[in-house]
Amino acid sequence: MHTKVVEAKNGVPIPQLGFGVYKITKEAEFTIAIREAIQVGYRHFDTARIYGNEKALGAEIRHSQIPREQFFITSKVWNTDHGYEATKKAFQETINKLGVDYLDMYLIHFASPKYMETWKAMEELYEAGKIKVIGVANFEIPHLEELRKHAKILPMINQIETHPEFPQNELRVYMNKYQILHEAWGPLGQGNKVLLQHPVLKEIADHHHKTVAQVILRWHLERDVVLIPKSSNPKRIRENSEIFDFELSAEEMEKISRLNTGKRYSIHPTGYI
Ligand code: NAD
Repeated sequence: MHTKVVEAKNGVPIPQLGFGVYKITKEAEFTIAIREAIQVGYRHFDTARIYGNEKALGAEIRHSQIPREQFFITSKVWNTDHGYEATKKAFQETINKLGVDYLDMYLIHFASPKYMETWKAMEELYEAGKIKVIGVANFEIPHLEELRKHAKILPMINQIETHPEFPQNELRVYMNKYQILHEAWGPLGQGNKVLLQHPVLKEIADHHHKTVAQVILRWHLERDVVLIPKSSNPKRIRENSEIFDFELSAEEMEKISRLNTGKRYSIHPTGYI
């Protein structure tokens, strides 16, 4: 698998295409999916404490016998672990479960009320070399502004729902201004058929002899977005990685930009807090 990296503003390279492990919970399914992903060449894995599979992911990474440094591992602080002490404890539990002594990326999962205290703990863990890249997920402009005013270090990345129907254009302008990388969760609209069978995308896909899923993932790459599609199906895991051998023209990017309906396929992030 070819891959590309994007650099966080501290210079740390992030493999642009990663693999999300949300909802792959059955043991056998998880093993098959992660082994296939590693075999295909994915090295960036996105988990979270709440997904309940940090331990299983760590075990698969060790099973691969590929040196840990070749992986890029992300996890996230869950809502009930917010606060300075609680975050430090949650981080320790996360790395213990993964069986690693540092994380490549650690994110605040949602902007729960105590996120400023949480962030302070993350800044310290970063400064101690325990985390290479610190960031947030599901943060909107007011949350980022609050951090910008009071934090020592600004988040280096924001992981947010993003797909052609919900391209996050406004937040992107703000994030670009402060060199906050854009990471897409739900990059395929969580598998929604409206998106995956969209005639405009189908036409572009046919033109390139690619699938609609590949066109959507390529669209994220062209926008310099870090993306972490999820699949537990080995054929799709491979398919989702084969997006480095074609490009979308400016005209095709323009056509896709017109699919913006403002539709989220998930609930608004405040619904999770
Ligand atoms: P996704 O957009 O990656 O969609 C996954 C679904 O798309 C699969 O379950 C499958 O049904 C379908 N699919 C995958 N590959 C396909 C293909 N080639 N062809 C057709 N259908 C295909 O959605 P997601 O899993 O919600 O998001 C990806 C990752 O983002 C998660 O696994 C998780 O790591 C992360 N995430 C983070 C948050 C957050 O709050 N930070 C929220 C949701 C997900």
